[in-house]
Amino acid sequence: MIITITPNPAIDIAYFIEDFKIDNIHKVSKIFKTAGGKGLNVSKVLKILGSDILATGFLGGNSGNYIRNELERIGIKNKFIDTDGETRTTYSINDNLNGTTTEIREAGPNISKSENEEFFEYLSSMDDEGNIFACSGSLPNGLDSGFYDRMLDILENNKVIIDTSGANLRHIVFDAKKKPYAIKPNIDEIRDLFGEKIDSMSKRELLEQEAFKNIPIVIISLGKDGCVAKIHNKYYECKVPKIEAINPVGSGDSSIAGLAYSISNDLSEVATLKYSMACGVLNALEEEIGHINIDNLESTLEKIVVNEI
Ligand code: ATP
Repeated sequence: MIITITPNPAIDIAYFIEDFKIDNIHKVSKIFKTAGGKGLNVSKVLKILGSDILATGFLGGNSGNYIRNELERIGIKNKFIDTDGETRTTYSINDNLNGTTTEIREAGPNISKSENEEFFEYLSSMDDEGNIFACSGSLPNGLDSGFYDRMLDILENNKVIIDTSGANLRHIVFDAKKKPYAIKPNIDEIRDLFGEKIDSMSKRELLEQEAFKNIPIVIISLGKDGCVAKIHNKYYECKVPKIEAINPVGSGDSSIAGLAYSISNDLSEVATLKYSMACGVLNALEEEIGHINIDNLESTLEKIVVNEI
């Protein structure tokens, strides 16, 4: 089973507004309201891929109930820990006329010590060698990078994928004693970690960083340019087909879904990269975040080129 962990889920509200201007009143031409947060985007794509999944994390208040109902409706098994606070809402204002996206993000509820303990008790009960875990997105208030240390400790016999950024990614890459099985930073997150020096490095040098030594899979995603990746001791570059992207938000989450799917199906290294990239490409072709058209999977896989570097 693949267990997705979303520490800080959100109701994602996407407004489509033509010619959005600050200090003005606007009519919304289209609205999407979805159960979101990076881990839930991963869950939705895994569900479309047909994986056996369970979603966990923290949910609270009316927004939490909305997300639970949505997950039931789309048939995603879930077991979230209840929090006293209210699950957050995030808003994006998409202006197709000017090609801008403005995002407003709430921080999320405060997780108490006892809620955190309850989560780790639950996680311990899921520690089974066959299970794969994918933990994505920001941490709510009350949790710090020690959350990942404890998670990696409890799940040391499992394959754990972590997709995070900023100080938490820094902690995992440079400081954590136990390492995840896979990470998928994008190039901006890599620049945050290593600074401008990465601009003068070759792709291979970038992947050969000492800090990645104990992380078996490192995929550095490059948006429309695909990715470069290290899988065990091999190094790869992947090119994806040129597309007219509709909404690339969530493509990183979709590529995590492709990665988790490939690990759970024991696919080859090349196939793993192809699935991961194809899910990202297919998400970019949809308006809805965390959605892929499965009918186009095979043809997209065929167009992805993977070379060893
Ligand atoms: P997010 O945080 O929005 O989920 P990300 O920054 O983590 O995304 P990206 O590098 O943007 O991740 O995208 C992940 C993968 O999705 C890419 O490696 C690529 O395969 C695919 N992808 C993303 N954007 C495009 C695009 N415009 N055209 C083709 N493929 C894309």
